Amino acid sequence: PERGAEILRATALRKQFGGLVAVNDVGFHLSAGEVVGLIGPNGAGKSTTFNLLTGVLSATKGSVAFLGEEICGRAARHIATRGVARTFQHVKLVHGMTVLDNVALGAHLRAASGPLRAALKLDRAEEARIFALAWQQLHRVGLAHCAHLVADELSLGQQRLVEIARALCLDPVLLLLDEPAAGLRHLEKAALAKLLDKLRAEGMTILLVEHDMDFVMNLTDRLVVMNFGAELAQGRPKEIQDNPAVIEAYLGS
Ligand code: ADP
Ligand code: MG
Repeated sequence: PERGAEILRATALRKQFGGLVAVNDVGFHLSAGEVVGLIGPNGAGKSTTFNLLTGVLSATKGSVAFLGEEICGRAARHIATRGVARTFQHVKLVHGMTVLDNVALGAHLRAASGPLRAALKLDRAEEARIFALAWQQLHRVGLAHCAHLVADELSLGQQRLVEIARALCLDPVLLLLDEPAAGLRHLEKAALAKLLDKLRAEGMTILLVEHDMDFVMNLTDRLVVMNFGAELAQGRPKEIQDNPAVIEAYLGS
């Protein structure tokens, strides 16, 4: 999509868990090439929103248009192959598996033959393509030198980069990152910020959930603020910083 073109629009998106309204009729849009922050206190509904956008959870109601297609209610794999990739708040790497194999799992998802056929190594040409792609994405995040280490041996910061490499294997149009800087040390945060800047320069659209306000303010073009499942405010980082309702929501939490 052309830079600035609308790629995603969520309308009146809602998710209830029994009596709890985790996401309460939330609406926002994303344009190609934007880095947007989705912020709000713990329990505001940010991760649930990611789960709705990626088909991990089905919405109670509402719609999500992505590149002109209604994806609300579609399977996670369908949405992923259409170009929405994500990382999780709690790193989901396969223990005991190498970094390269973990990244290749993302490429398997995109492969024509599907993960089962690929895992059974039924197609050697495809297997070669998958590993070439995984190597390429590991280079992109600066971790090629760790390819043959077991993923568990890496620092948390490096594991987060591996997750991003795995997501990039989908060749996404939109990348959703759920608290990628949480628990990282200063230098690791700086490396992550540098990578996100590089992806932005390449035209990637990013929706970022993050609590580190310096990180968010430096990286994002626009913010969507949630509180108790509802949308509290939207605007440029500078406007949001001075918004009394937002300040109240954070101080009150
Ligand atoms: P955030 O990511 O903003 O911290 P979440 O989206 O994880 O918030 O959670 C929003 C609310 O929904 C919280 O009150 C949380 O306890 C609840 N919630 C999240 N997932 C589930 C679930 N699978 N079942 C029941 N309640 C859930
Ligand atoms: Mg969360």
